[in-house]
Amino acid sequence: MIFDLHCDTIMRIYKDGTELKSNNYHISENKMIKANSLVQFFAMFVNMKEVRNPYVVCNEMMDVFDREVAKSSVIKKGTAPCDIDEDHITGILTIEEGGVLQGEMDKLIHFYNRGVRSIVLTWNYENEIGYPNYMYTHKDKGLKPFGIEVVKKMNELGMIVDVSHLSDAGFWDCIKYSSMPIIASHSNARSVHDHPRNLTDEMILALRDKGGVMGINFYSGFLDGSNLSKVSSIVKHIKYIRNLAGIDVIALGTDYDGITCELEIEDISKIDMLAQALANEGFTKEEIDKIFYKNALRVYNEVVLD
Ligand SMILES: [Zn+2]
Repeated sequence: MIFDLHCDTIMRIYKDGTELKSNNYHISENKMIKANSLVQFFAMFVNMKEVRNPYVVCNEMMDVFDREVAKSSVIKKGTAPCDIDEDHITGILTIEEGGVLQGEMDKLIHFYNRGVRSIVLTWNYENEIGYPNYMYTHKDKGLKPFGIEVVKKMNELGMIVDVSHLSDAGFWDCIKYSSMPIIASHSNARSVHDHPRNLTDEMILALRDKGGVMGINFYSGFLDGSNLSKVSSIVKHIKYIRNLAGIDVIALGTDYDGITCELEIEDISKIDMLAQALANEGFTKEEIDKIFYKNALRVYNEVVLD
C-alpha cells in the first residue's frame, strides 16, 4: 500500500480537460489501482503569477477533483481518518500555495469546509503567509503575522501544516508555533543533495521530534541534480535520513505530474520498484511499510479530526 503526500495531477486535468480514470500522466485511477494506493494527497497547485484570481482558480480545480471522484467507484474523497479503508483509494484535497487565501482567514475556513486537510504554505513566491526558499533569497525571513495565525487556525481545525517550499526561517517558525506535527510533503535531505528545497539535518531532526514526516520527492533536481530520477538516488536519501533520524520520519511525496525529469519509476503503478530496491538494501517489511504508508497515516490520524 502507499500513502503519497504530494502530486499535481489535478492541475494537469484542469489545464488539459482530461480525466483521472485513465490518462497518460504519472497518476491515474488505473495506475493507482496497480500501485495498491491507500491514500493520495491531491494538491491544488496554483501558480499565482499565471492566473488572474488564485482563489477562484483553486476553487475551480476543486470542482474538477470533486467531479472526477464522483465518477469513480474506486476513489473516494476523504476528510477524516475514519474515511480511510483498504477497500478504496482515499483522495484528499490539499493546496500548494497559501497565497490562495489572499490573507483572509475566512478563506481558510472556506477551504476547510470544501475538504482541504493540508496546505503547503508557500510555493516559490512570497505571499501573505511567508517566504519561499527559492534560491535562498528569503532564507532568514520567517512567517508573517498572518502566517502565524494560519498555523494556529490549521492546528485548531485539524489541517496539516506543510513546510515544503517554505524558507528555512519559516520552517523554524512552524516548529515553534504549531502545536501539532507538521510535514514537508515533498522534500529530501540537503546533506545528500544541496538544494534549498531540501531539509538540513537539524530540520529533519526537529521534524522528527515534532512527530512529523517528510515525503521523499522523486524529482531528480532534488535527488542528485541530474536529469534522471534514479531509484538508487531515492534509496540514498532514505538511507541517509533513516541513519540520521530514524525510520519514523520518512514518507513518500512523489511530486508526480509536477515534475518533468525522466523517471526510472515512470509512474505510480511502478512504485513497487522502490519497495524492491529497499528490500535489497536490507530494509525490513515493517520499515518499508512505514515509509510507504504507515508514517504518513500516523500523522494524518493525529492531526486531522474524525
Ligand atoms: Zn511543490
